[in-house]
Amino acid sequence: MSLASTSPSRADQPRRLSILGSTGSIGCSTLDLVERNPDAFSIEALTANRSVARLAMQAKRFGARLAVVADDSAYADLKEALSGSGIEVAAGPAAVAEAAGRPTDWVMSAIVGAAGLAPTLAAIRQGTVVGLANKETLVCAGSLMTAEVRRCGAQLLPVDSEHNAIFQVLDLEQPQSVDKLILTASGGPFRTFSRADMASVTPAQAVAHPNWDMGAKISVDSATMMNKGLELIEAHFLFDMPEERIDILVHPESVIHSMVSYVDGSVLAQLGQPDMRTPIAYALAWPERMATPVERLDLASIGRLTFEPPDETRFPSLRLARAALRAGGTAPVTLNAANEEAVAAFLAGRLGFLEIPEVVERALEAHPAVELNSLEEVDAVDSRARMTAKGLLEARAPGA
Ligand code: NDP
Repeated sequence: MSLASTSPSRADQPRRLSILGSTGSIGCSTLDLVERNPDAFSIEALTANRSVARLAMQAKRFGARLAVVADDSAYADLKEALSGSGIEVAAGPAAVAEAAGRPTDWVMSAIVGAAGLAPTLAAIRQGTVVGLANKETLVCAGSLMTAEVRRCGAQLLPVDSEHNAIFQVLDLEQPQSVDKLILTASGGPFRTFSRADMASVTPAQAVAHPNWDMGAKISVDSATMMNKGLELIEAHFLFDMPEERIDILVHPESVIHSMVSYVDGSVLAQLGQPDMRTPIAYALAWPERMATPVERLDLASIGRLTFEPPDETRFPSLRLARAALRAGGTAPVTLNAANEEAVAAFLAGRLGFLEIPEVVERALEAHPAVELNSLEEVDAVDSRARMTAKGLLEARAPGA
């Protein structure tokens, strides 16, 4: 188990944080909590891809020592925006990873996609506490990453709301007492749609999640339910739980964030409003708890919680993710890379919604699973799967 199970040493001084992906949905929610607790935290580094204006504003407001953009072409703008501030500026993927490796007490890993892998590893390798939102890194390199966590004495705290919920109710001292993990899923904006209805949905409809306010990529993943598939793989690696003992349960109200079923028949759940500031706060304050402005749960006014089984026919991404986890080795890397390419094409209006899992399935067929032995291999498999996915996208007839 690579999860934190003991308290980190805490001095009576602010916890020093770096936030990877500070300009995104998770990054901004993290800074919202930091701003409400100015004495408890200080900021070392903030990173973005190319959102210069927002990054510069955050860096000044929170007194960051370092601000980094992954996209080299945004360097000059960031330098100008922060000139005279005394804040160090850098650019490029290697600079993001370097920022992640700077000594801190806590790092938030909230870059979207496999681009977060190298920086998350750099954070792990400094042996610090890492709040992990970036599920794609565990999907791509789960066993290699958890081995690095153990080797470097780092501590991984799940920020994804489902995994955070499980972490809150899982008895880490008695793993043999756990029967199953139950990941809840809202079902996304198209939960009740037929396949025919889904054929014509637009990116705007797909990113309009009924319960959660999230970045574009994870919102589309929620709409295809690939998000739940990625979470299944994430849960397998985080909690060392075999695939057949992780259930998915559709729960449209998103009040129960996930559950652990024990051998004595007890089921423990964590409940709350669908607001990421709760799991982020749990990870930020761990092993204590901190107050948040999150609206309190009023079950009487909600009245009723409903549940249904997932439908792998209408949402084939779930089936593909389970199959990739069972196949193991390189299959989850291929699944993730092809999905990232297909989602980007859908968001750009170049691919239909129902074609997203089709691209993923064909990439998985083109690259049968083989063993994965090193992080370098992850990069190679990721690149090959992206090339295959891009080839599939290009081969489609215009307007098809
Ligand atoms: P967003 O798209 O809102 O933000 C992504 C962040 O990553 C931004 O800061 C973005 O910078 C940065 N980024 C994008 N591409 C790169 C790159 N190539 N190199 C370095 N940085 C990059 O995503 P979310 O905050 O929604 O999600 C972040 C992660 O957290 C994802 O893995 C997601 O699955 C996970 N997660 C998110 C939840 C949510 O509620 N949003 C819930 C649970 C998990 P820029 O602004 O410049 O583009």
